[in-house]
Amino acid sequence: MTTTLLPNHVSGRWQTGTGAGTTLVDPVLGTPLARVDATGLDLPAAFRFAREQGGAALRALSYAQRAELLAAVGKVLQANRDTYYEISTANSGTVKNDTAVDVDGGLFTLGTYAKLGAGLGDRRHLLDGDPARLGKEALFQSQHVLLPTHGVALLINAFNFPSWGLWEKAAPALLSGVPVIVKPATTTAWLTQRMVQDVIDAGVLPPGALSVICGSSAGLMDQLQPFDVVSFTGSAETAAVIRSHRAVAQRSVRVNIEADSINSALLLPGEAAGSAALDLLAKEVAREMTVKSGQKCTAIRRVFVPEALYAAAAEAIAARLAKTTVGNPRNETVRMGALVNREQFNTVREGLAHLRAQAEVLHDGAKHTLVDADPAVACCIGPTLLGVRDGDAADRVHDTEVFGPVATLVPYRDAAHALALVRRGQGSLVASLYGSDAQTLAATALELASSHGRVHIISPDVASLHTGHGNVMPQSLHGGPGRAGGGEELGGQRALNFYHRRSAVQASTAVLSALG
Ligand code: NAP
Repeated sequence: MTTTLLPNHVSGRWQTGTGAGTTLVDPVLGTPLARVDATGLDLPAAFRFAREQGGAALRALSYAQRAELLAAVGKVLQANRDTYYEISTANSGTVKNDTAVDVDGGLFTLGTYAKLGAGLGDRRHLLDGDPARLGKEALFQSQHVLLPTHGVALLINAFNFPSWGLWEKAAPALLSGVPVIVKPATTTAWLTQRMVQDVIDAGVLPPGALSVICGSSAGLMDQLQPFDVVSFTGSAETAAVIRSHRAVAQRSVRVNIEADSINSALLLPGEAAGSAALDLLAKEVAREMTVKSGQKCTAIRRVFVPEALYAAAAEAIAARLAKTTVGNPRNETVRMGALVNREQFNTVREGLAHLRAQAEVLHDGAKHTLVDADPAVACCIGPTLLGVRDGDAADRVHDTEVFGPVATLVPYRDAAHALALVRRGQGSLVASLYGSDAQTLAATALELASSHGRVHIISPDVASLHTGHGNVMPQSLHGGPGRAGGGEELGGQRALNFYHRRSAVQASTAVLSALG
């Protein structure tokens, strides 16, 4: 069957690649869906067009005007939302609730930045802090200013969030006045491509503001010039290639890396079996393991509980996992769909075997019978909970990210031991804490904050209010130190810093007041 070759949008025009392309496949049915290809694109011209045309047009607008553009983009996407759900089901194998995390999560983030930008008003630059006196006299001072960088933002995205991954980066970039070229992961490029197509066809953005290149990444990094930025989300392995590229090493191209992470959930000492805190932990762990079949960079991979509660926690989590129906996302009874493709399916199985060599199986995903799906074709896998009784001796649980519905339960002796075990993740995107004592929760959060981009605390008083361990909210920072890539995204207005250049203007008070 010949499938449609999806066009790229560069240099203000739709252009198809000249090669055979890569076929995107339905991970549940195994059917071909579309092809992507970037062969033969004039990349230097594409980057120049975005930088010069898109950049100049965006910088001519104020923050409030650019916020209006974001709102207009949001309206276009909202009008086509049903199509995005269909594409996600077919290309990502996701059930409706999981599609919502990606599609509606993207729209929500876009809307948040549209509102935030409206509040920045009729300005084209931002002041950073107050004037600082440089000498004895107050007349001569220093004022820091933030200006949109005169370059392009290259967004290189992972396969698991073709919508959210695009808009959580594009919204702050466009609001900052920086044009975007997005390169989605090949496997799930269709949704990103369609969203960009709808926005371009609606004519709501100036030419050059938004481009999409689907297919091979070859040559993209080579185009980057000193004032460009690259925002990467993906594996630590590819991150290392990006970081060592000469554009970064020699041209000082600014880079943000969001990589893999061995996130933790920690039940604090002092909670009993049957306590609300243990129940909240079990609920959240089961949810995190199964949302998007565990293909979330923020998903809980390690679960730490007091030694005495190891069996109770295993039982509580396993009982919830047993209820998860796995299979064809088109079947209304199915709660968890597929992994994204055969390669990921095989990688998850290998990763699971690697972890199992040092662990016991507390809930076996292989026991789940697939609903409405052929096990020989569908890339579906049941959720597996492993257990490691000696978290000090076992190293794999702290090092291996299995990007699927897999987590490992690890008992700890006391609070200090728990912290030491969590820190063996070498820096993570998020840790969640479960307990009922506010003082202990706060103190533990401060202990873990320096090695985590986010600490999410679930106490019984916020049981029905909290936003979820793995949900990335645009108001909060997303990113993590060390192994997580060392990046920072979102966090409200903080996201704009990456797309701005900071400069100190030293002048008389009169000149500084004229800066606006
Ligand atoms: P990946 O294989 O590293 O690919 C990520 C992106 O990089 C894709 O668009 C890929 O394109 C592109 N790429 C590959 N080689 C490249 C190169 N030499 N130069 C420039 N770009 C290149 O990661 P993935 O398998 O898509 O995503 C899964 C991983 O992402 C997981 O480990 C997960 O933890 C991590 N992740 C992290 C976050 C976060 O926010 N921290 C979010 C989501 C996912 P192709 O697809 O064409 O190869």
